Amino acid sequence: MFDKVLIANRGEIALRILRACRELGIATVAVHSTADENAMHVRLADESVCIGPPPARDSYLNIPSLLAACEITGADAVHPGYGFLAENARFAEILGEHNITFIGPSPEHIRIMGDKIEAKKTAIRLGIPVVPGSPGAVRSGDEAARIAEEIGFPVLIKAAAGGGGRGMKVARTPADLAEALTTAQTEAKAAFGDDAVYLERYLAKPRHIEVQILGDGQGNAVHLGERDCSLQRRHQKLWEEALSPALNADQRHAIGTRVATAIADLGYSGAGTIEFLYENGEFFFIEMNTRLQVEHPVTESITGIDIVQEQIRIAAGAKLSFTQDDIVFSGHAIECRINAENPLTFTPSPGHIDSVHVPGGLGVRVDSGIYAGYTVPPYYDSLIAKLIVMGKSRNECLMRLRRALGEYVIEGVETTIPLFIDLLKDDDIIDGNYDIHWLENYLERRRQ
Ligand code: ADP
Repeated sequence: MFDKVLIANRGEIALRILRACRELGIATVAVHSTADENAMHVRLADESVCIGPPPARDSYLNIPSLLAACEITGADAVHPGYGFLAENARFAEILGEHNITFIGPSPEHIRIMGDKIEAKKTAIRLGIPVVPGSPGAVRSGDEAARIAEEIGFPVLIKAAAGGGGRGMKVARTPADLAEALTTAQTEAKAAFGDDAVYLERYLAKPRHIEVQILGDGQGNAVHLGERDCSLQRRHQKLWEEALSPALNADQRHAIGTRVATAIADLGYSGAGTIEFLYENGEFFFIEMNTRLQVEHPVTESITGIDIVQEQIRIAAGAKLSFTQDDIVFSGHAIECRINAENPLTFTPSPGHIDSVHVPGGLGVRVDSGIYAGYTVPPYYDSLIAKLIVMGKSRNECLMRLRRALGEYVIEGVETTIPLFIDLLKDDDIIDGNYDIHWLENYLERRRQ
């Protein structure tokens, strides 16, 4: 096992990783920018190192600074969290060259899944169903027109290097296609430095359902069930639940087994998520995330498995200590992402937090690094807390969530809490009856 883990992240996820390390008896090193000097992850870590000024490219994304922090502190492993360098294959490689373990999959697997075209080809090879689309990158308008005709309109143009919901364009008719293609290529080039784009059939009313997996790279892999992350705004998830209200046990078993088999065949090591769109009883692979996800706690709540501790054990060379038969799904869990944003316009609301009262009680978990007197800096993601609630049934979970949101007080910045309180009054939410466009339509109605 490792002696000391450096956590190359900030905010709630840095704390989450710190907690896992502490329970495993591993010392922790926090890193921080000058804007995060007073952050909770810095206060609670055994040691901390300042790695640069506020802009992420100069601090949390600064590989030489992170390497120096490892050297100074003698850390023997790095947990990247999510975002920042979590899916940077080069970072994983460089750490390896310095005999520091990257807590995550191999650089090769990160690279394959980071290129969405390669990822889709790999999924097909492993027998995972994908969204019908172009077999590779689409370069010219003529090629796009031919393929779009084959798969049928509307089509979605996506960046091969895409992420975070950016670089996607819908073409509804053949007349839209040429312009959408050029715009998508230009945006992809600007955002990711790579103008490769591909085409997919645009699904009208799918749900976003993703399967959490763990593999040990030694022939063993399991799935931990699915999460339904259909409630999204601009392709950003806001509410996630496990298990999905849309699947029954047989469907769950079928897709989970297929995915776990594929992951074992791939020789994948670590935690990962296979994301699907689900429509009319069919699953379509869209991408794989080779890292811990924001929404992992809902899966932990229904399985009792600490995903971060498993990541650490696997990276240290351990085999999976349980089989698929040992994994039992129990109850229902929902996560709400509490962002420092206006709950209707989503304008960021950084600033000083005057007071905080966190809900508690049975089945309530809050992952957050904020406290009264803390200032939310304007430089990073606006996620300041995750409220995760579990209950024996979905209905109990909804009642408890309503209760917990009512207790939650954050004063000084605007948050998305009022949005969740309103959502819980909607029949579609109560019935679990929503697709990936539901939230956008709801917000549109609210703004009118
Ligand atoms: P990113 O890596 O940028 O998050 P994804 O491929 O995971 O991109 O897609 C993000 C979201 O975009 C999905 O959750 C879904 O809402 C929407 N989306 C992606 N592909 C399609 C598609 N073929 N049809 C309809 N919606 C899609």
